[in-house]
Amino acid sequence: MSRKILVTGGAGYIGSHIVRQLGEYGYDVVVYDNCSTGIPQAVLYGELIIGDLSDINRLYQVFGKHQFDAVVHLAARLVVPESVAYPLDYYSNNTCNTINLLHCCNVMGVDKLIFSSTAAVYGESNQNFVTEDAPTSPINPYGRSKLMSELIIQDYARASTLRYVILRYFNVGGADPVGRIGQNSRATHLIANACNAALKRQSELKIFGTDFPTPDGTGIRDYVHVEDVATAHIDGLRYLEDGGNSEVVNCGYGEGYSVRQVVERVKAKAISGVDFPVINGDRRDGDPASVTASIQKIKKMLSWQPKYNNLDAIISSALAWEKRKLK
Ligand code: UDP
Repeated sequence: MSRKILVTGGAGYIGSHIVRQLGEYGYDVVVYDNCSTGIPQAVLYGELIIGDLSDINRLYQVFGKHQFDAVVHLAARLVVPESVAYPLDYYSNNTCNTINLLHCCNVMGVDKLIFSSTAAVYGESNQNFVTEDAPTSPINPYGRSKLMSELIIQDYARASTLRYVILRYFNVGGADPVGRIGQNSRATHLIANACNAALKRQSELKIFGTDFPTPDGTGIRDYVHVEDVATAHIDGLRYLEDGGNSEVVNCGYGEGYSVRQVVERVKAKAISGVDFPVINGDRRDGDPASVTASIQKIKKMLSWQPKYNNLDAIISSALAWEKRKLK
């Protein structure tokens, strides 16, 4: 009998890639998503239930109808500046709703969880390659809402049979290599914005801060392809199915690129070949200077083997997806 997995936020950008891979691997998938940013057409496998995690009665009904073997929990808000402006939305959506989900897991006996967390839990790290045991000190409400969720999951796991894999994503980019799904919500992230500038959908690309303590003064991030991030969830699920203990693991490539380097690659002849205007702006609230992952642990614990570890591949697939959206 195939295993049944609940994916919250499965109609969203990362979630839809996970759902597609779960479907391809023969899992039975149920997606629970309020479709505030996700879209129904992005769910290529399984059943989509449009609902909000704040509606705990609905959630109990869903858990009552299906016998889930595991939950993959992504549904959340994820834009750093928005979290600074609307912190309560972030604590409700990200933290309180995680508690609702855990209540359902508890009552219905679901004991495996993959949780989507973020490098934002580290804040300003002084490690070049931040390890999972680095101090957590988020500098924005988004990071704090996710860290609180992590702590709640860990406390609940200590008091129950739940085992979890917490994946701390670094900067997820790119799209399905054959163009079926990609990022649909309004772009706020660097690669999507730069692609939109190359496609003349926005007049320029603004760099948020050029006075960071980095070699070229712009923020450094570890960009990871969404396909590889999705695969990390499948690997995490298999790890738990094989009896693995609860773990927190980074999901990045262990390579940092500055904003200027990313912009340069988007403009490159081999990628867009478009020299769009770039302007220097002020720093954005809540942005750390540099965050790059140590990835020894995910490779060792989950046997994760990324296939798209290449900035150009990430940007090219993102650009191809943005072009399709124009049609
Ligand atoms: N950034 C930028 N211009 C943009 C969007 C982002 O300069 O239009 C910068 C941002 O300040 C950060 C990096 O690009 O240094 C990555 O930001 P993004 O929003 O993609 O992801 P985050 O790291 O905030 O999750």
